[in-house]
Amino acid sequence: MEKDVVCGMEVAKTSEYKSAVKDKTFFFCSTECKAKFDANPIKYAR
Ligand SMILES: [Zn+2]
Repeated sequence: MEKDVVCGMEVAKTSEYKSAVKDKTFFFCSTECKAKFDANPIKYAR
């Protein structure tokens, strides 16, 4: 499982909601969380 860094939920790696930043792929529970992440990846990606 991966952690959705936006809301803190556990998300399966098979989730269709994901974004790649640098060398890391982030997974999300929903399109809303992905949109929040994509709007400000620096805030979440660390
Ligand atoms: Zn989420």
